[in-house]
Amino acid sequence: MGFYCISSKNFPAFIDELIHQQSVIAPQLVQSKPYNPSSSEFFSFSLLKKASNLRLDYDTTILPPKKVFFPPQQVLLSFKNGEFQAVLDLYETILFGVHPYDLLAIEQTDFLFSDKYEDIHYTAQRQLTTIIGSNIQRSAEHSFFSSMNANVKPSTHDGFITKIADTYIYEVLTGKAGNLLKYGQFTDASQQQIDLAVKENERVKSKSHLNYSADEIKQGLEKSYADLELWEQLAKSCYACGSCNTSCPTCYCFNIEDKWHIDQISGERTRYWDSCMTEDFAKISLGPGKSGEAQTENFRPTTGARMRHRLMRKMVYLNDKLGTQACVGCGRCATSCTADIADPVNIINTVMEKYHD
Ligand code: SF4
Ligand code: SF4
Repeated sequence: MGFYCISSKNFPAFIDELIHQQSVIAPQLVQSKPYNPSSSEFFSFSLLKKASNLRLDYDTTILPPKKVFFPPQQVLLSFKNGEFQAVLDLYETILFGVHPYDLLAIEQTDFLFSDKYEDIHYTAQRQLTTIIGSNIQRSAEHSFFSSMNANVKPSTHDGFITKIADTYIYEVLTGKAGNLLKYGQFTDASQQQIDLAVKENERVKSKSHLNYSADEIKQGLEKSYADLELWEQLAKSCYACGSCNTSCPTCYCFNIEDKWHIDQISGERTRYWDSCMTEDFAKISLGPGKSGEAQTENFRPTTGARMRHRLMRKMVYLNDKLGTQACVGCGRCATSCTADIADPVNIINTVMEKYHD
């Protein structure tokens, strides 16, 4: 729908006007103590209060922007006397400054939350959100997005902003993004500026790389399935914290709990992010045994079985469903793993050394 430009000088006034009009969620520096001593700066998508807090030069964020549509904890419904009512806590928002790998991840969750059974808690908030992507000005330490989903271009967003020298080029893809033009001093972008923006986006590369194609990885991982010993070795230091899942933009498993109020006739149903790397994720009830005691079975009882499952989901099972890998190479799992074993680049390269033809 068109390319526009705005000078760096006028850009903060545009952002402040957006904040004035709507809630804006955007990358900002987190001031709390970093959990990983190897990095001095941590960023988070959070409610923007003023333009000067916006950090479009972020490398990546601790949690992915999926939390806007799929929060870590969310009340789904309330119930009383056998009656229930859906709880939809919705708000119009602009999600600003999303990197291309996270746009791809949102595209995947858009599909997964509306495939077969629509999840209205996700889709309703998604519809109320205007997504503006931004170019990657610097790559995160563990990122490998250049190696992932090579044939897929993000298309789920409304607009995209690229910084070139002292100008921002704003690509408008939908009416939602077009509606924002009136809040800033935009002019039409020249063909030369558009070409520079395209070049700038092509220039950016991730820090790590995989040396295998998606098909090769899929085949190699499938072959490694029976080699549980290898997977146990890879997961030897895992202490099942689940951080590699909860920091992942494409993980979407959740657990549901019903909580009763003290009146014992009313309560709430809440969902929480879940993690297939935790010990109890695959533990199921078998009902009472012969002695009457509750019986359970865990069909992924070891760290190796769970790590194998996590990688199979990303590179094999969901690949079949989505037509592309369910990993966008953001590197958050590697950064968040204090045992330093979750990096898919290291895991895949180790498996492929043994199982690549
Ligand atoms: S691989 Fe790392 S982040 Fe993932 S569950 Fe194990 S220790 Fe936690
Ligand atoms: S598996 Fe790791 S690198 Fe891949 S999308 Fe998830 S967090 Fe990012």
